[in-house]
Amino acid sequence: MLDHCSISHKGGIVLWSRSFTPAAAQAAASSSSPVNSLIREALIEGRTAEDKYEKDGYAVKWSFVNDLELIFVVAYQRILQLTYIDELLATLKNIFVKLFEPFLATFLASLHAATSGSAIIASGQSAASWNFAKAFENWDAVFDRILHGLESKAAQDRKARYKPVQISIEPSPPSDDMSTIPSQSAETTVDEEQIARNVQALKNRLRGKGARGGRRGPGRSDIGSGRESLPGSDSDTPVKRKTKTKTQRKWGEQAPTESDMASLDFSYEKPGDADANRGSLDLNALVDRDSLGTRTQNGMYEVKDWEFGLKDSAADDMISKALMSSQTSKPTSSSGSLGALGSLFARLTGSKVLTEDDLKPVLEGMKQHLMKKNVAKEIADKVCEGVGESLVGKKVGGFQTINAAVRLALSNSLTRILTPKTSTDLLLSIRTKLSAPLPSSQQRMPYSITFVGVNGVGKSTNLSKVCFWLIQNGLRVLIAACDTFRSGAVEQLRVHVRNLSMLGVNGATDSKGRVELYERGYGKDAAGIAKEAIAYARDHDFDVVLIDTAGRMQDNEPLMRALAKLVATNNPDKIIFVGEALVGNEAVDQLTKFDRALRDFSAASGGVGKQRGIDGMLVTKWDTVDDKVGAALSMTYVTGQPIIFVGCGQVRFLVLLVQQGCNELTDDHFVYTIEQTYTDLRQLRVSNVVQAILSD
Ligand code: GDP
Repeated sequence: MLDHCSISHKGGIVLWSRSFTPAAAQAAASSSSPVNSLIREALIEGRTAEDKYEKDGYAVKWSFVNDLELIFVVAYQRILQLTYIDELLATLKNIFVKLFEPFLATFLASLHAATSGSAIIASGQSAASWNFAKAFENWDAVFDRILHGLESKAAQDRKARYKPVQISIEPSPPSDDMSTIPSQSAETTVDEEQIARNVQALKNRLRGKGARGGRRGPGRSDIGSGRESLPGSDSDTPVKRKTKTKTQRKWGEQAPTESDMASLDFSYEKPGDADANRGSLDLNALVDRDSLGTRTQNGMYEVKDWEFGLKDSAADDMISKALMSSQTSKPTSSSGSLGALGSLFARLTGSKVLTEDDLKPVLEGMKQHLMKKNVAKEIADKVCEGVGESLVGKKVGGFQTINAAVRLALSNSLTRILTPKTSTDLLLSIRTKLSAPLPSSQQRMPYSITFVGVNGVGKSTNLSKVCFWLIQNGLRVLIAACDTFRSGAVEQLRVHVRNLSMLGVNGATDSKGRVELYERGYGKDAAGIAKEAIAYARDHDFDVVLIDTAGRMQDNEPLMRALAKLVATNNPDKIIFVGEALVGNEAVDQLTKFDRALRDFSAASGGVGKQRGIDGMLVTKWDTVDDKVGAALSMTYVTGQPIIFVGCGQVRFLVLLVQQGCNELTDDHFVYTIEQTYTDLRQLRVSNVVQAILSD
């Protein structure tokens, strides 16, 4: 049984660690821990030439991944003859690097950027701010499975070694010595029925065990990253990621039954229930507790970060392959792999100065990889060009160094493009405006945000998710319904406002008064309605105005002029372009043309907000692209502006016409199935996007 295992950067930063006994946990935390002594005496002072070190009854073994500057360490009681430690270290190294290589490369790049004196770490993150617990959260389960696999294999080997040998009894010459005469046959006859009974009993036991579920054992805490498993924890039961099930309103393909209709009909108040409409709304379904953001110490509500998760099946596959191959061959040191990309880098071998010709095939492969990730072609071209330029003429050593050099160059380039040049802290910007000193004669203006984009990208839906976030931060929000074109647009916002006003804020049971809709129906001038809404917000103490605009195609000049007029007239504090994550090249075209048209036409309109372009992006339908997140790269590349949020879910409405022939929709005519919630908004961390783009 192991006592402690850790994965660290050679500079001493612990990326992940686990102690298996309370004593080991205590020892690991002290400076005299065997692992710390190992690093001090064996590695830094070089007092041992071996890869094994013994101290205070512990044996410590380690192994390096040189190109990623990692060290894997395992400590166990010296008296235990653990035969699988070398295999364990090799397998852990192999799989850890495969699973997290993009993250590790980014991390390494940032460390190097910091130590090479480029003041700000490339990704804008200091070493201390790397959230290893989050980055490697799947690793615990993977680790358990590897360890368990090797322990079982070792146990089987042991059993095989001690299996009683079946002695075939040769007729021996008669002897007087009675002790040499077998008292019974060496092979005991076993009753077949008994075997069947035993098999059945075993099956029953296994079934019973299965029913217990694959939950992780309690009591995990960690050293370095916050987790530790206690002895006897269920580390052997496979850990399944919890699949979220959301309660959905019943509204399938078939015609609804009478009782379905009754439960869905919000058009009248049911007798004896004054709050029938409210009661029939499943408020819990509008907010997913698991996706709720966090509150900072000063009470601010922050939406969650988008995380790039590993797929369970991919990890499973890798583990079983690694365990199988460890039986037949000794794994070599990690070659570091980016799968397809890795094999491209592998073509460059030997120690030499890199030339354009060396890099050509590698860069072409890299471009194809980026395009597969939905990066627009021209952006992929430019990224590869930059990576090539940074590498030509560089002297590289063996394969490991070239591999690391190319990966680092690409990772650095992506990080540079994605790192925001302006603040993504919208809340700070709002608070700064709202708290700025004002002459007593002047009324405070609310902070206004205009959402623009083509039709159907998710402007209204995500505007309401932003609204939820603002309300949770104690701000009063007015939504201005300036899409006076698309039928149903105003009603859609009305339903959102109704929902949002029923959701609690920080303990309170609803947000009434915190959100309101400003609407003037259809066919009117959107710029004028926005102006009225801002004035209304100013006079009624609203902090923020969210302006919804009609979707329009980027090439439609009259509509782009109308949008520019709205901007020029109202000079919003932020103009957020809402774009879909699904689009590749199209994202660049939309964004470039919106930005250009807004700048040109708003300047021509000559209003207060002249020469205004896009200030930031909200990328929607992020939930539909998996790791093909290249649109984020394309969008930041063309504007130089940050992605403020990504939308990763939707609230779907269905219209229910209660009365035949009704020609005006009211909110009573809407029912909805909730597929996602107001909490389905995320912030992007540069390293996570880089990791997703680099992954295979
Ligand atoms: P608008 O015309 O730009 O205002 O778009 P809507 O807000 O009406 O949304 C258009 C469609 O996109 C609706 O079906 C939404 O449910 C869906 N949608 C919006 N945001 C997301 C998202 O983040 N993920 C997914 N999967 N769908 C979304």
